Amino acid sequence: MEAIQEDLVTLDPVPWLSNATTRVHVLRLDRVHPLISGNKWYKLRFYLETAKAQGQNIITFGGAYSNHLLATAAACRLEGIRCAGIIRGEAPPTYSPTLKDAASMGMELHFITREAYRQKQVPASFSEANWLIVPEGGYGIYGMQGAATIPVSPGAFDHICCATGTGTMMAGLLQSAPGTTAITGFSALKNHQSLPQEIDRLLAPAARPYTIRHDFHFGGYAKYTPELIRFMNELYDHTGIPTDFVYTAKLFYGVRALLEQAPEYSGNLLVIHSGGLQGNRSLPKGTLIF
Ligand SMILES: *Cc1c(COP(=O)(O)O)cnc(C)c1O
Repeated sequence: MEAIQEDLVTLDPVPWLSNATTRVHVLRLDRVHPLISGNKWYKLRFYLETAKAQGQNIITFGGAYSNHLLATAAACRLEGIRCAGIIRGEAPPTYSPTLKDAASMGMELHFITREAYRQKQVPASFSEANWLIVPEGGYGIYGMQGAATIPVSPGAFDHICCATGTGTMMAGLLQSAPGTTAITGFSALKNHQSLPQEIDRLLAPAARPYTIRHDFHFGGYAKYTPELIRFMNELYDHTGIPTDFVYTAKLFYGVRALLEQAPEYSGNLLVIHSGGLQGNRSLPKGTLIF
């Protein structure tokens, strides 16, 4: 498997989204690795390092199209770490492409009931001494610290915009970016009102101010509309930037909408392309032009 290549990350201007007062750039974290894509590498790096140092295996959680699950499987393969994935619900008769790939890279898949999954129960066969538990989405201090190594060119940007799921990446950005940079997260979940507490918990003692937009989820996590799909194709057509309908498409859509409406977005604005195109594999063939 290919190595991680952080030097492949590029910072590119996006004239199609820029206007007279705002210059938009995109940080292409999706380029670090084809499978350990985008923010997942940054969030996993210190979990991997810790597991290796302590001689532990890794166990984590995810759904059938989880970027995090696939990234963990690939990263553990690359680092020679034994790994297991806990999946919600009964084992399906045929695996999703993402689960197939994770299994083919050696991840041991364990299906547990929805109730057990909600409580994040690790089956008793995985002893805590031997298995490092990586919370779903890499949420946790290690995940935040890893995300703080995302190369955001300190001082170059007035605004940073990113997608949020668990908020781990955003917490890392809040940790690493200068206080003068305004950070806005675009929530991929509907009514994720606990998100600020979850972010603040990673940033003791107190997080600096930031903004979360709760109005660009398009119906909720992994939901989409024809308008969002149209936008993804349009964005790709004009800029060559591929996005996924779960996270980054909603982010770019939100950035465009705000730039059209809100004059406070002037200056230099950085959009974090956090990678992760797994969700698109669940779309009917031909939906996207990329
Ligand atoms: C997982 C993921 C996110 C969410 O990151 P959090 O740290 O959980 O907020 C954002 N974008 C993409 C592409 C992802 O795969």
